Amino acid sequence: MARDKFGRSISYLRISLTDHCNLRCVYCMPEDMTFRPNAELMQDDEILLFTRLFASLGFHKIRLTGGEPTVRANIVDIVRGIKDTPGVRSLSMTTNGLLLNKLAAPLAEAGLDRVNISLDTLDPEKFHRLTRWGKLEDVWTGLEFAEEAGLAPIKINAVVVRGYNERDVVALARLTLDHPWQVRFIEMMPFAGATELQVNQVVAWEEIHQRIERAFGGLEVVGNGKLDGEARLYHLPGAVGDLGFISSVTKPFCAECNRARLTADGRLRLCLLREKEVDVLTPLRDGANLEELREMILDGIWHKPWGHGLAEGIIPLNRVMNEIGG
Ligand code: SAM
Repeated sequence: MARDKFGRSISYLRISLTDHCNLRCVYCMPEDMTFRPNAELMQDDEILLFTRLFASLGFHKIRLTGGEPTVRANIVDIVRGIKDTPGVRSLSMTTNGLLLNKLAAPLAEAGLDRVNISLDTLDPEKFHRLTRWGKLEDVWTGLEFAEEAGLAPIKINAVVVRGYNERDVVALARLTLDHPWQVRFIEMMPFAGATELQVNQVVAWEEIHQRIERAFGGLEVVGNGKLDGEARLYHLPGAVGDLGFISSVTKPFCAECNRARLTADGRLRLCLLREKEVDVLTPLRDGANLEELREMILDGIWHKPWGHGLAEGIIPLNRVMNEIGG
């Protein structure tokens, strides 16, 4: 079991499979983003080797992310290899959904348990403005295919950006009346690449909550306010799904953090919002043995930072979000 020096046990690994993406969301990366050459990214066998290593250290929950994980070549085989790794109990993916029309069924068959689909608005024009390139109907089709393939319970991730979609939270929340989904509203976080927008156009969870309550009446707290992962859950009266609020900026949940991340280029990222990383890919390529790699990982986890420094104005600028994966 991997533990940090604050006594948190860390058992959840998010793996960014690629920094490449088929959208250019304004809050994620610049439109003219330059991606890493393929050789700098973890190769399929390296991803599977790290999965085995982390699983042997008690990491039983894995989420695949990106960039956009579905644009990664051999994604179905990678999913199968990860799910077949002893110790891996749960495998999920965060995706923009664009390719799920083709991939949902094979991914489910290969062992993917569920998906989080990013969808920030139900207005096609606003969707295009937020994603720069996207067509809302493609995400909607992807969602239907994901449901059909049983990649459930489906969670919808909506980043809320002032001047873009803060009013759309009501229509998104309304989805939970008829769909057994968890619609999660995420406070925008700052990184490199889009820092000014990310800092200046944050919408705090309280405002989102109030907008939804004004439209539907009081929200019911789910599970006595206990966190579900990183989300605080609520329920619209009569709804079949839930609402989640992820307030990383204004109400962080660091005490509950059980996560580590592998960036697309094989760095162990210890806190999403801190620059501290441990390069595990270069030592692997230089011939480090499994025991040496295990020690590096355990030592990195031990030194996992307590939490972010946004309140003190410390912004992690060594990465654009698409390389870490959220
Ligand atoms: N391409 C996939 C997708 O769209 O879901 C996976 C990668 S994306 C980086 C993972 C999640 O991070 C998405 O839900 C996205 O909306 C969210 N995200 C991106 N930039 C963010 C930011 N600056 N603050 C908060 N969440 C962000």
